[in-house]
Amino acid sequence: MSDIDNVIKEKTLTLKKWINECGSFVFFGGAGVSTESGIPDFRSAEGLYNEESKVPPEKMVSHTFFKMHPKEFFDFYKNKMVYTDAKPSVTHMTLARLEKEGKCKAVITQNIDGLHQMAGSKNVLELHGSIYRNYCIKCGRPYELEAILTGKGARLGQGRFEGVPVCECGGVIKPDVVLYEESLDASVINESVELISKTPLLIIGGTSLNVYPAAGLLNHFRGKYVAIINKEPTPFDEKADLLIQGALGDVFSFF
Ligand code: NAD
Repeated sequence: MSDIDNVIKEKTLTLKKWINECGSFVFFGGAGVSTESGIPDFRSAEGLYNEESKVPPEKMVSHTFFKMHPKEFFDFYKNKMVYTDAKPSVTHMTLARLEKEGKCKAVITQNIDGLHQMAGSKNVLELHGSIYRNYCIKCGRPYELEAILTGKGARLGQGRFEGVPVCECGGVIKPDVVLYEESLDASVINESVELISKTPLLIIGGTSLNVYPAAGLLNHFRGKYVAIINKEPTPFDEKADLLIQGALGDVFSFF
């Protein structure tokens, strides 16, 4: 075992000790939780932000871009943000097991991939929505993901709307994901604030903590310990009682 493995193992033992001492914890995560499931994150070296593209992904997943360039929006969304073959990683699976054991009170995630639920977690707060919920922006009718991907149960538009999923009422079918310039769901925010402000132990993992207002939720923490597990430094590192700079999979395989 390398020195790094030993450090991670030792820090993980501390984390396990804190979980036992506190009785429960809340997990706050981001795209890095799903990179080991094969879904690229946004900001690390292999992330989507570093791909060659004329329009930065941040702009492509904005509300303005969705309205102005629906065809290009859906091209990007379908190709770069939806991974139907992805399976839960050891991190998703361990968090689901810890929930069953009464230790993980909730997972608050910025991810839209549904992998925590696929792993079996029940109490998942999706700050940025889910690729699995979709609705017509005109009449509100709900649609399956398949409608976005293939137009099944809907129809696909033409011209400026080529390949865009369209409802029978003529409205565009929009994924229920929070785009840049859009607000987060107030009830999800309120519940997250409640959980973060009451938990004695907050475990943060796989997030650059650069996306607001999600990252700002951490300021509501009033408990005893904060642990951050991330490959790269984050703006909240100095507030952490335990900092594990490494892969989530390496940490959660010790659980
Ligand atoms: P981010 O891309 O800004 O940051 C991800 C962080 O995770 C990076 O700091 C990286 O170093 C770290 N990381 C990557 N793999 C890791 C691993 N195996 N172990 C530990 N750390 C690891 O992601 P963010 O902070 O979640 O913000 C990006 C936004 O993009 C979010 O709003 C999210 O909704 C969206 N997004 C979601 C998905 C998804 O649903 N899977 C994927 C990409 C982007």
